[in-house]
Amino acid sequence: MVQDVACVIWDLDGTVLDTESLVCEVSRSVLAAHGAELTPEAVKAGIGKRPIEAWQAVVDQLQLTSVTAQQLYDESEPLLTARWGEAKLMPGAGRLLRHLRRCGVPMAVATSTPRRTFERKMGGAACADLAGSFSAATCGDEVERGKPAPDCFTATAQRMGVDPARCLVIEDAPSGLQAAAAAGMRVVVVPSLPRIEYPQPDPAATSGCCQLLSSLLDFRPERLGLSPFDDLVEGTIPLDPVWRLRGTVVRGFGRGSKELGIPTANLPPASLHGQLADAVTGIYYGWASVGASPAVYPTAISVGYNPFYKNKEKTVEPWLLHEFEADFYDEELRLAVVGYIRPEADFTTLEDLVARIHRDADVTRAALQNSNLAAYKNDDVLKPRSV
Ligand code: ADP
Ligand code: MG
Repeated sequence: MVQDVACVIWDLDGTVLDTESLVCEVSRSVLAAHGAELTPEAVKAGIGKRPIEAWQAVVDQLQLTSVTAQQLYDESEPLLTARWGEAKLMPGAGRLLRHLRRCGVPMAVATSTPRRTFERKMGGAACADLAGSFSAATCGDEVERGKPAPDCFTATAQRMGVDPARCLVIEDAPSGLQAAAAAGMRVVVVPSLPRIEYPQPDPAATSGCCQLLSSLLDFRPERLGLSPFDDLVEGTIPLDPVWRLRGTVVRGFGRGSKELGIPTANLPPASLHGQLADAVTGIYYGWASVGASPAVYPTAISVGYNPFYKNKEKTVEPWLLHEFEADFYDEELRLAVVGYIRPEADFTTLEDLVARIHRDADVTRAALQNSNLAAYKNDDVLKPRSV
């Protein structure tokens, strides 16, 4: 029998804080100096572990002989120490933390990070209003064995005075999942890095992975017996702040109209100004206007990786919910993206995909009736620039 959640235990790196992109960046440069390359397999081997153990896993995975884990650790640590304060919150982490805190759910951290580094990370600007969220933290240097051993989770449950079966863990890494499962806890897995494979989630499991989410934006507390979010509009999450962008419509593959009957205007990655760099891929919605016309239309928007740009750049592809008389390539498209609908999903058939996109359009129209979201129809970003 699955028991009620009495405590939520958060992993820190890649779950609360986006430190993993920093770590990968620094690791890549440190390895490059030794003529080695950080492969996805090496990332998978190291992620979630204590720093020196993570480096050992990388050394083993890459079969490095010219340099030791200790050396790599010594070279990377000062570079990272200088940068921990830059780490941002993972998408949806702040919202979920604040929600659970407001609902009075006891929370703790169980991290592979040593205490000193933990303090540095929590001291960054991103964590300014989260200090009081956690009643306890167990750090990597405070337990005998690091993840994937269960020690840090077991110790945290003890400190919180909660039975492990009533602890819910939020984790991004395979080693963390393994550790929490070994501690007898249920785990919501939210992968922070692509191309890492996880076991199939089992919602009825009393320990191990019970849910696998694309991001914390898809966390539904009520599915775990916790109070639901109160900020949803028609089941969508309003963005705060909204994204405002303008760009010239470029040609894509012409697939939208031809294969699906759903045209999506492509914007060049350069027009996204990096504001989407940290954005979760998925389906969003908002308002759009085109060219010299001030008319504003409800718009369903896909944010993802377009193969045309070799998967390196996120692209934004709006489907304006309006019948246009002609194409509008090379014209300026203006967007106010105001809400998040759902993650990207794999569809087995084209019919399913098309049906789902039409449902997204219905949700878009309904959610934009909300007075707060309707107000963005008059946002300055949507006004044509006078020539
Ligand atoms: P591409 O792959 O070149 O983007 P699509 O088949 O997706 O081709 O069609 C998108 C193009 O269709 C847009 O760039 C735009 O010029 C035109 N278009 C016409 N109506 C719409 C609409 N309602 N929403 C988006 N684009 C539209
Ligand atoms: Mg398109």
